[in-house]
Amino acid sequence: MKPIRRPFGKGKAVSLFTLGTMRALQSEKQMYEVVKAALSIGINNFETAPAYGPAESLLGKAFKKLKSQGKEPYGGYLITSKILPNISLKEGKQQLQEILDRLEMKKIANLAIHGINLEQHLDWAIHGEGAKIINWAIEKGIVQQVGFTSHGSFNLISRALDCDGFQFCSLHLHLLEPSKIPLVKKALNRGIGVMGISPVDKGGKLQFPSKTLIEACKPFHPIELAYRFLIGQGISTLTLGASKIEDFNVAKKLINNNYPINKQTKQALKNLRNYALFRLPESHCGQCRECLPCPKNVPIPELLHMRNLFLGYDLQEFSKERYNLIGKAGHWWESKNASACEECGECLPRCPNNLQIPKLLKETHKLLIDNPRRRLWD
Ligand code: SF4
Ligand code: SF4
Repeated sequence: MKPIRRPFGKGKAVSLFTLGTMRALQSEKQMYEVVKAALSIGINNFETAPAYGPAESLLGKAFKKLKSQGKEPYGGYLITSKILPNISLKEGKQQLQEILDRLEMKKIANLAIHGINLEQHLDWAIHGEGAKIINWAIEKGIVQQVGFTSHGSFNLISRALDCDGFQFCSLHLHLLEPSKIPLVKKALNRGIGVMGISPVDKGGKLQFPSKTLIEACKPFHPIELAYRFLIGQGISTLTLGASKIEDFNVAKKLINNNYPINKQTKQALKNLRNYALFRLPESHCGQCRECLPCPKNVPIPELLHMRNLFLGYDLQEFSKERYNLIGKAGHWWESKNASACEECGECLPRCPNNLQIPKLLKETHKLLIDNPRRRLWD
């Protein structure tokens, strides 16, 4: 049976899962074993970046070895690599050539602008030097299509999807934080491919779920429910960051399932949402964003989302880690935590759930503030 391939922008069709290569960096052997395991479940798309250290060169070596054994995925090996914004045409040409050299390839299928997080990044990609790099790479045939990754706001991503400059987008889309799902629909309606990034780790460290979350996701493991939910939204492909063969076990169950939202999944999703509501009957934040804007730019929904996760699903380590990154990750994450609230009360009449927002923010800060940590992907 041919493995499932899903349309991905104007590029070659991709597998339901894309191998994320940032967790197989210990040795050539580790990368080879992980890529081989990816092929065995039908994966043909491999996501990498210069920022992942030796990932590209290890991947290049693994491909070479597998090709010499006659092993090639259906549709061929597809690569998605990245360049950072705000570089010059000269730097862009050089960086792209270095990517190809490390991968030992003459061209790649997908190039993403890594982090359209600010308006200036979008402007660079559409009107500035970025546009020149993109045109040059496409004309030279080095890159088949161009997309972007973003940790930016909903509106910024929406504008990036509107501008006709990109054929795919790589977004953080999560079971426990579905606020960007409408962007998936928008992208797909415009023929733009969608890659869901890190649905497991950044989606709540689902590889280490709390007992509460396991209970809330039954009868599925949280990872399986997350995959089912996201694939069911029509997302073209989901990254799977593997470091060992066992990391493919859940994906293996779904690899031939193009639309896994059946009756049982629907019920599990409903139970999951109700679980947190039940535990926080008076104070669950529904993430509607009606409370914004805050005159002090406090990101109220994002902060109360971490409170939802901490108290609703006992995801203590994850919510603390995210909270304590605030203000320390530049444009990759929020810059203000709950202590920025000056209790002016402006947000209060806007909340349809009548939440006591300043009080909840104070409590959130007390619950989550800890020692600072650094981002894994810096
Ligand atoms: S009470 Fe706090 S969060 Fe609400 S608008 Fe005022 S400063 Fe912002
Ligand atoms: S308005 Fe209320 S429920 Fe909606 S995001 Fe803001 S705090 Fe949450």
